[in-house]
Amino acid sequence: MTAPNDKSAPAPAANFLRNIIERDLETGTYADRPWGGSPGDAAHHASGVADPEKIRTRFPPEPNGYLHIGHAKSICLNFGLARDFGGVCHMRFDDTNPEKEEQEYVDSIKDAVRWLGFSWDADGSSHLYFASNYFDLMYRAAESLISRGHAYVDQQSAEEMRANRGTLTEPGKDSPWRSRPVEENLRVFREMREGKHPEGSMVLRAKVDMASPNINLRDPAIYRIRFAEHHNTGNTWCIYPMYTFAHPIEDALERISHSICTLEFEDQRPFYDWLLERLAEDGLLAHPLPKQYEFARLNLTYIITSKRKLKQLVDEKIVDGWDDPRMPTIVGLRRRGYTPESLQLLAERTGASKHNTWIDYSVLEGCLREDLEEKTVRGMAALDPLKLKLTNWDEVFAAGHVEPCSAPRHPHHEDWGKRSFNLTSEVWIEREDFEEVPPKGFRRLFPGNMARLKYGYVIECTGCEKDADGKVTAVLARVVPDTKSGTPGADSVKVKGVITWVSASEGVAAEVRLYDRLFTEAQPDAGGRDFLSVLNPGAKRVIQAWVEPGLAQAKPDDKFQFERHGYFVADREDHRANAPVFNLAVGLKDSWGK
Ligand code: ATP
Ligand code: MG
Repeated sequence: MTAPNDKSAPAPAANFLRNIIERDLETGTYADRPWGGSPGDAAHHASGVADPEKIRTRFPPEPNGYLHIGHAKSICLNFGLARDFGGVCHMRFDDTNPEKEEQEYVDSIKDAVRWLGFSWDADGSSHLYFASNYFDLMYRAAESLISRGHAYVDQQSAEEMRANRGTLTEPGKDSPWRSRPVEENLRVFREMREGKHPEGSMVLRAKVDMASPNINLRDPAIYRIRFAEHHNTGNTWCIYPMYTFAHPIEDALERISHSICTLEFEDQRPFYDWLLERLAEDGLLAHPLPKQYEFARLNLTYIITSKRKLKQLVDEKIVDGWDDPRMPTIVGLRRRGYTPESLQLLAERTGASKHNTWIDYSVLEGCLREDLEEKTVRGMAALDPLKLKLTNWDEVFAAGHVEPCSAPRHPHHEDWGKRSFNLTSEVWIEREDFEEVPPKGFRRLFPGNMARLKYGYVIECTGCEKDADGKVTAVLARVVPDTKSGTPGADSVKVKGVITWVSASEGVAAEVRLYDRLFTEAQPDAGGRDFLSVLNPGAKRVIQAWVEPGLAQAKPDDKFQFERHGYFVADREDHRANAPVFNLAVGLKDSWGK
């Protein structure tokens, strides 16, 4: 943490959750409570030891898809708070919905959390949990509610239930089943469990308040019948708990102290508290109970995070898969060249607030640039290559001569050493570095002008070669002897332009994939707009480029700064030593719309 009087570091964004946790630690809200060594009911925890963790948070994804940047924010927040305050964050798969979950997603989610730099291991135990392991305890909780008159089996049709729920301005109407005797409720609920009633014929509802101004308290459904096989429990169950019932119980069984979720769940908090209080009254759970806190979800411009819409992009082959570098999935960002540190930085910068706002996409890019600036080895690349012929090479040196050059691997890290490459009589430069008729202020190559081949010699442009259509096919120049960088003669000729280059005979051909924002509108799906109508056709461009010979040694995932261009990563999937493939992670400057 930054000391308050340290002016050099940017202040971390406001995060009201930190204040809440600090206060809880000060007042000892969660001090001395027992922990049974694993999730369980009050009796299980009472038989345990004093909880070694100061706080417990959780990251509770449903394993039904790939995680995206919004989840990364939630991961950084939950795991980050636990780390900063001497606690632990549980990795919990919320797999209470029988139909949707898949092992593939469980694995990819675990990978994503670990890749982001977090662990669910603490004090010798692994806090990896599956909500479906709590089905027995959830069932007991339901019977506990029924037994004490807090739940009933409702046999109204779905339409009747909807009609009787009331509206924001009108109270709901009691179901005719609401006053069913306890014994009958228990008997019918057990029949539900035994598979004696068809799907949709009845549900178990909590008995709270049909007149509550909060619709979530108007007797929410807590168990429904589903004859579906569950990936973990098979066909043991044909009734499954609803999310609003399951989630608070999962938190309580795991002794979560701070249950952090996004703002949409604010209206569910009263039921969260109501339910846990009722179960604590019956001794199934013990105080202190978990508390839910809501923060504003991360909204980034030019990005969509709806699972359904992301799936559509994949299914309709608008992108090349879940890990396409244009996708805001964690696997996509990773393949694009994003680092765990850059995403952590984004989470920190955006803090936690109670108000929904949009964060500009440039903030995300800025975080990556900031991280890669210090970490990446430099290299030169010609992305739009044009041949430059040094016409006096043989006289200045000798035919076939190669001139060794070197450059720092990183301009601020001398200890990283130097990279070596040769200057040869023909090199690749950027097409934009030559103008036959220079615009005002142009300092690079045009006939009669001198510029420096970076880390090499000053050269003087003498003209160009063209094809039949008048297109420039090569630039011609003469080497100015005794002007090599790093030698005493380097300053004998003053030039303003510096040209990056790659030896034509020693450079390595590479496929370079230039990526950009996937949408042309900041809020692609705003106001019900079809987000497919605002796709950026230039979001992926594949070019053939020439790169410095040393870059042929790159391994998949290695990141570089291509001098003057930006940050590039060797593609995780397609990069090969003899056929390099680099992805543009982010340019050196924010150039969008310019
Ligand atoms: P679904 O549409 O399937 O419910 P979901 O995005 O809510 O998708 P979950 O697997 O339920 O996915 O989410 C796991 C956690 O990530 C939740 O706690 C959720 O609040 C959090 N989360 C999801 N999107 C964002 C976001 N944009 N910003 C912050 N947290 C998010
Ligand atoms: Mg969800």
